[in-house]
Amino acid sequence: MQPSGNEDRHTLLISDLHLCASRPAITDQFVRFIDTTARRADALYILGDLFEYWAGDDDLADPHNQTVIQALKRLSTHSVSCYLIHGNRDFLLGNEFAETANLQILQDPTMHDLHGYRVLLSHGDALCTDDLAYQEFRQQVRHPAWQAQFLAQPLSARKAQIEALRMRSEQEKSGKSEVIMDVNQDAVFALLRAYDYPDIFIHGHTHRPARHDIEIDRHHIVRWVLGDWYEQGSCLRLDTDGCKALPLV
Ligand code: MN
Repeated sequence: MQPSGNEDRHTLLISDLHLCASRPAITDQFVRFIDTTARRADALYILGDLFEYWAGDDDLADPHNQTVIQALKRLSTHSVSCYLIHGNRDFLLGNEFAETANLQILQDPTMHDLHGYRVLLSHGDALCTDDLAYQEFRQQVRHPAWQAQFLAQPLSARKAQIEALRMRSEQEKSGKSEVIMDVNQDAVFALLRAYDYPDIFIHGHTHRPARHDIEIDRHHIVRWVLGDWYEQGSCLRLDTDGCKALPLV
């Protein structure tokens, strides 16, 4: 039964699902989540890395991608607004994808007023400033000229390059310390100041789900980190009582 009135108005947030055809169980869980839990929400925010990778919007017809896109599209028929912020894996998700899936792509970061809170939303990779090699790579691949050149190549060539990049990044990650791959506290503070101290800051990327209470310049800000979906789903629920982790079945 649909809840009546305002008693159950809430927003759901997820990130780092890393959906791909080789992990069908997680895609199944995502589709179940969309068709049960998510359709009762006011809005769903996907804060990056929905897909393990995205080679370009000319890959929309891929059967696995279609499964995900059709699920997202069903959400809009239940009047659930859907928003997406690019992750470091799927930053090539473009307008055609957004139109087909019936969702809105937001800049990273974006501030939204939700349930009476000023909520800052981000994927989180831009805050990992201790990882100099990654930030250099990020700057390169987020450049419109680089993206245009990359997308001009045939889809198969792009997929092969992404595969090679993923293998290199896995090797490099094993040599990087945990501290380097986490968000940098100064970068977090600078962002919170730049956005005039939001009430809540939510991001993913680090796969270290947690609630961090921050005291900064006499402001109290709660930073929530979303978890990944490698083993099970991970989701935050936001309503007038604030944010909490939502157990998923
Ligand atoms: Mn990420």
